[in-house]
Amino acid sequence: MDRRSFITMSAIAGAAMVSGCARPAGNGTNGRTPEAKLKLASQEGVAPGESLNEKLDFLEEHGFTGLEPHGANLAERVGEFENALANRQIKICAVVAGFRGFLIAKDPAVRQEAVDSIKTILEAAGALGSTGLIVVPAFNRQESLPHRESREMLVEKLQELGEFAQRHNTRILLEPLNRREAYFLRLLADAAAIAKDTESNGIGVMGDFWHMTWEETSDMCGIFSAADFLHHMHIASRQRRRMPGEDEGDDYTKGFKALKYIGYNDYISLECGSDGDRRETIPAAANLMREQWEKASIC
Ligand code: MG
Repeated sequence: MDRRSFITMSAIAGAAMVSGCARPAGNGTNGRTPEAKLKLASQEGVAPGESLNEKLDFLEEHGFTGLEPHGANLAERVGEFENALANRQIKICAVVAGFRGFLIAKDPAVRQEAVDSIKTILEAAGALGSTGLIVVPAFNRQESLPHRESREMLVEKLQELGEFAQRHNTRILLEPLNRREAYFLRLLADAAAIAKDTESNGIGVMGDFWHMTWEETSDMCGIFSAADFLHHMHIASRQRRRMPGEDEGDDYTKGFKALKYIGYNDYISLECGSDGDRRETIPAAANLMREQWEKASIC
């Protein structure tokens, strides 16, 4: 892009952000359609019900179209999910973690354990049509390489995993957390920069409104910064990580506005606890999300 194009594009983006009334025709590299949709999902452990089918019945009844299972033992559960999801509107969205080891460990054996177990989950995730496997490169409690070495190591490992994920029609989703949990990766922009450096379509990014509350300068800017790489969102109340709406002033409209602007078509998934009866607080949270999605108009 030459300087004039850059200035023009910057002006358009700036005007859109101020007026909230413009949107680019497409996002180029990610093949996303320009029309954003609110697709509600829930982690398996968050939905009420004694069995997988009870959980799916409840979620379907309240308009959810995505289920996010844990990655541990996913390979042994592929048939169970295929049977339970047959003839339903609900699909598997992202798969959350469940691998062993971690990718930027000091110990090469621990790094290899992460690569091997991530591949096992990716294979199962791909078989289930998942958006991707959520990966946190390292938590604070895990002994990692120095930062510069960690980043180089991570990009190298992700190139291998991204290629593997693509072969199985899924991807890795890097998740930035807040600094109390994972100092290494805290911002969507940083996750997107790492994904960009891999030059692999098998590497994407996700955002979690809970972590974003503490780390991003604004929901809107965080989402814009990762736009071409963003393929999943987590949502919770903004102060105590309960159901959206359980904390005073829970507001996602600016984030939703950014999601609409980038033509986001993946899922927003509940990752939270609840102080109340989930059979009541989940439908209330879904209503709040629908209301705020409607309110987040970009004209
Ligand atoms: Mg999360």
